[in-house]
Amino acid sequence: MAGNIKDKEAYQRLNFLYQAAHCALAQNPENTELARFYCLTQKTISKRLVLRQDPSLKRTICKKCCTLLIPGVTSTVLQKRGPMRQRKTVVRCLSCGLIKQFPNNPKHELWVDQPEAQLENQTSHDAGPSLKSKTQKKKPDIGSAYMTAKTSPTV
Ligand SMILES: [Zn+2]
Repeated sequence: MAGNIKDKEAYQRLNFLYQAAHCALAQNPENTELARFYCLTQKTISKRLVLRQDPSLKRTICKKCCTLLIPGVTSTVLQKRGPMRQRKTVVRCLSCGLIKQFPNNPKHELWVDQPEAQLENQTSHDAGPSLKSKTQKKKPDIGSAYMTAKTSPTV
């Protein structure tokens, strides 16, 4: 339980920093340096404590320069058509020029949205031993088949 509470405080801190970055830009769109400082601090904390941040949040922060990406203020957002006629969203950071691309596929599921990513589902997924015994059972079968194949030409 103690670990959970500790994480909760860290997440609250990350949440605060993220909101502070938004507030800084909302007050003055030229406050990009301050917003970047908040986002950099947020990134450093999440890295040091190994806290996974939600993809929806990660997508709004530039990977290269840690600028908070707000369409029309610190980033440009375009809809493009890539190969195979697939549409994609292209987000470009205005301060460093880094480009993020996201395919517009409604069927695409993020890893965090998949049931296997949830910790409570992973315990049921932990049916490793039964799977292992299955493969171990299979192996001798292959071996015996190989043996018979090998012995048949000599006879
Ligand atoms: Zn950038």
